[in-house]
Amino acid sequence: MTTHGATTVGAHRQRALPAFALLALALYATGIGPRPDGAAWDRTYDIVLANLAYLAAVPAAWLASRRVPAEQMAWRALSCALLLSLTSNLIRTPAAGLQGNEPYPLLVDAGALISYLLLYVAMVGFIRSRVARFHPSMWLDGLIGALGTLAVGVAFVIGPYLDPTAGRPAVELVNLTLPVSDVLMLALLVAVGSILGVRLDRTLALMSLALGCLLVADLSLFTRTVSGTYVDGGPTDAFWVLGVVVATLTAHLAQPRAAGTAAAPRERLGWRLLALPAVCNVAGLVVLAVGWAGDLPVAAAWLAVGCALAAAARTAVTFREVRAFHEVNLQARTDELTGLPNRRVLHEAGEQMLATTTSQRPAALLLLDLDGFKEVNDSLGHSAGDQLLRQIGPRLTARLRAGDLLARLGGDEFAVLLPDTGVDAARARAEELRDLLLQPFVVDGVRLHVGVSIGVATAPVPAASVQELLRCADVAMYAAKAGREGVNVYVPDPHGGTGDRLQTMEELRTALTGDELLIHLQPQVACEDGRVVGAEALVRWAHPVRGLLSPAELLPAAERAGLLRPLTDVVLDLALTAAARWWDTREVPVSVNLSAANVTDPDLPGKVVQALARHGLPARALTLELVEDTLMADPERGREVLAELRRLGVRTSIDDYGTGYSSLAYLRTLPADELKLDRSLTADVTTDPRAAAIVRHTVALAHDLGLRLVVEGVEDAAGGAALRELGADIAQGYAIARPMAVDDFLAWLEAPRHLLVPGDLDPVR
Ligand code: C2E
Ligand code: MG
Ligand code: MG
Repeated sequence: MTTHGATTVGAHRQRALPAFALLALALYATGIGPRPDGAAWDRTYDIVLANLAYLAAVPAAWLASRRVPAEQMAWRALSCALLLSLTSNLIRTPAAGLQGNEPYPLLVDAGALISYLLLYVAMVGFIRSRVARFHPSMWLDGLIGALGTLAVGVAFVIGPYLDPTAGRPAVELVNLTLPVSDVLMLALLVAVGSILGVRLDRTLALMSLALGCLLVADLSLFTRTVSGTYVDGGPTDAFWVLGVVVATLTAHLAQPRAAGTAAAPRERLGWRLLALPAVCNVAGLVVLAVGWAGDLPVAAAWLAVGCALAAAARTAVTFREVRAFHEVNLQARTDELTGLPNRRVLHEAGEQMLATTTSQRPAALLLLDLDGFKEVNDSLGHSAGDQLLRQIGPRLTARLRAGDLLARLGGDEFAVLLPDTGVDAARARAEELRDLLLQPFVVDGVRLHVGVSIGVATAPVPAASVQELLRCADVAMYAAKAGREGVNVYVPDPHGGTGDRLQTMEELRTALTGDELLIHLQPQVACEDGRVVGAEALVRWAHPVRGLLSPAELLPAAERAGLLRPLTDVVLDLALTAAARWWDTREVPVSVNLSAANVTDPDLPGKVVQALARHGLPARALTLELVEDTLMADPERGREVLAELRRLGVRTSIDDYGTGYSSLAYLRTLPADELKLDRSLTADVTTDPRAAAIVRHTVALAHDLGLRLVVEGVEDAAGGAALRELGADIAQGYAIARPMAVDDFLAWLEAPRHLLVPGDLDPVR
């Protein structure tokens, strides 16, 4: 049989079943009325007709379970429940004897009970299939509802029957089972259903109607059993059959629901969440209070107590839920690594702040970006970087005022919101925070120095929104980084340019692969005789739009983009290409600057060897310069790389000496050939005796350690002469020559003229 055939047969059977059930009801209705004296039941009506309806209902429910997969469990449970009821009925009625008073097997009661349990499972299944997300605490709500309703029911409805003093016989517990189960089920349904925000659709409404019918019949059975007036038949008995017929109809009409009709969890968060359990709980308390005064059944009191306990449990669960909610909320607002508020919080707080900000009462935002953080990560590993980032918050927080907000925006970027702060105060605060961050950090026992660049922007002018504040501060920060000035305040660009740094990074990537990067060469001469002893390669970026860009603009962008290593590769290649042009005639080595990312790169020696080989140059044609601080991140590895380079014959030079933090002891073990004294230390030698003293002593130190001393930034002949007097070995600076294009340098090399050569008075080129 094909699937299609099966469906058609199923559909036919499906239509036949409710008709069959209705017919059974109709026939049964003809026999409604008390059974004749002397008989508690009638074979035709109470055994055949009353149960015919079940015969239709059992397969109808089963078929529905196949048609509606989402409710499969419910329909199957319902089908089984009906089958079990049918079986119990068929056994009980005859077993009770014609008078209906003979004991019947306990099995019958057990069957009835289990069928109620299954009915319960079915109803729960119906509800569950309508709830998008089910939460265990919903059961507690349902339990409170059920216990409260039950307490009221037992106290005021069933209660009187339980009281022997009222002159009525006490009821056997077994007789109570059915009505109690009914009430319990209805209570649970109402409670759980309404709490979940489940709307009554056709299936639920009809099933509730069916349950209602059963309840009426069960209650009638109960009262009449208690009063001893029960005989089968009678109008109320028809309610069982009616209930079963309604269930059959429901099964017949059941169709899969359209997707997305399950109640959204959000709907749960209304007044319903608390209203129903609360009402039930109050009802339970009323029962307790009434019972206190009069005498209500003990069972009612226990139920009310149970209800109160369930409510207490619910409170505990609610508390946990609320706390969990709070935690989730907190997590969503907290930066995981540092525990600081995150970008979202900054936005919210910024918006609040801006609401009360006026030009009389301005506010400011500082954007902090660590300098050299990538180097720390690269050289010491990410866990060290993380440790460093975690120290930022505690250090800065100590200096924040009430109302200030420090947030981490991601990476090594932080932001501080300063309400009630004008531009000057903001700059001062930025300087203050920067000084704090310039103090060394200890990470894994290593003292680390990181710099920070801070961009400052104010509201409402020029930035009127949080986004604008962030953007302006970002531009200012980028400028601070490029200019190495530490703190920069955003000044609106009259031409409207924003210096979008993302764009810069993208462009930089293209520059590295294309031919936009070039080098300028600046000669170094021996102080003694003016002989050219070297040339420093200084990178330039021939930007297609912005013109020739200096390292101050290029390097921070390269650092942010993590492109320092490839940048060095390009510069190394350019420098060696240039050197190869003069090496055969003049053995003047070329110097290339390294960044921290290179110094800790174990591949560097290999790369250098390859590059030299490619250009047919010996190792002594190359000097590598590195700023002392780049070594501080990972002195061990840095030292190894330097030592390896020196073994190869490459010269190494400590650049910008005197501005960093390296200790003298460290200098002793450093594998270097020369020190380049920073130009800040050489600038005033002609006028400041203290500056001269520093140079003199540094020269002595360098010589004692077997190092050559190079002075940078020699801007005029007088300075050059003074530095030569103080013992410097090599000089570099505008007084000799400015950095120049490779071709210019080659020309200059043919006739090196400069201010430092005694007697050569030609102006500097
Ligand atoms: P540096 O290695 O100390 O290079 C010397 C800088 O001082 C150069 O600036 C040079 O133009 C400038 N200078 C030279 N003589 C004088 C002078 O008499 N007076 C003054 N005021 N300045 C003088 P530049 O080219 O802007 O380079 C700046 C820094 O950028 C360099 O400082 C170096 O640390 C870095 N750098 C340059 N090229 C590269 C590179 O290819 N790779 C890396 N990693 N860094 C580079
Ligand atoms: Mg240099
Ligand atoms: Mg330098």
